[in-house]
Amino acid sequence: MLAEQLQHVKQQIQLLCHRYQRPAESVQLLAVSKTQSFEKILQAIEQGQFAFGENYLQEAVEKIQQIRAILQQENPQFVDKVQWHFIGALQSNKTRPIAEHFDWLHSLETLKQAERLNMQRPAHLAPLNVCIQVNSSGEQQKSGIALTDVEQLKQLAQQISQLPRLKLRGLMTLPAPETELSRQRIPFCHLKNLFEQLKQTGLTLDTLSMGMSSDMEAAIAEGATIVRIGTAIFGQRNYD
Ligand SMILES: *Cc1c(COP(=O)(O)O)cnc(C)c1O
Repeated sequence: MLAEQLQHVKQQIQLLCHRYQRPAESVQLLAVSKTQSFEKILQAIEQGQFAFGENYLQEAVEKIQQIRAILQQENPQFVDKVQWHFIGALQSNKTRPIAEHFDWLHSLETLKQAERLNMQRPAHLAPLNVCIQVNSSGEQQKSGIALTDVEQLKQLAQQISQLPRLKLRGLMTLPAPETELSRQRIPFCHLKNLFEQLKQTGLTLDTLSMGMSSDMEAAIAEGATIVRIGTAIFGQRNYD
């Protein structure tokens, strides 16, 4: 079941890359495993899926440790392949577990968070890959830097790029839900434009983290390089 759904999502990505004239390897699949059991994550790993996204810190750290221990026993060749991405809301006082347990953070918003992460990133790990979260649909309650605060974003990106224990990779967004493809594309198109503007300031960026199960096509059409897919792989979640 999970193997088939995973396969289906991968085929879908290939198809969409073809449809929008992008190289097939230009879109990476991040399997969003929040609320899913470690058994399901292990099944996905056995199918060759190694990048996972989590939202809830305590749950995530428990699963990361449990899965690492099981892999060390049963499939040591996978231990270093598995990558953990934190994609949930980031509280400034909870940065340490992210610095210590994750490979990526998609939801960075402030210099203060960045500085804490930079300080807390253990020396034996590679720099933490980060994306700045942008609020691309203008809703008040959504997290992220407003799309219109271009100067603020440029300044933050410059400052983050100076921190040696972080590696700024790009931008992430989670727009308000829309059902029509043409409307879904609008915030992703804005994010892509912002990404190009940032690159023109001299930063080397390679990641646009956008698109979930319900708007993956729109995101790929607009240039996503990481799509974050939960439901389409693992089925409906019991809680959120
Ligand atoms: C849960 C979540 C996803 C995955 O959503 P699905 O609709 O299950 O694919 C992607 N990104 C973020 C930030 C999430 O919280």
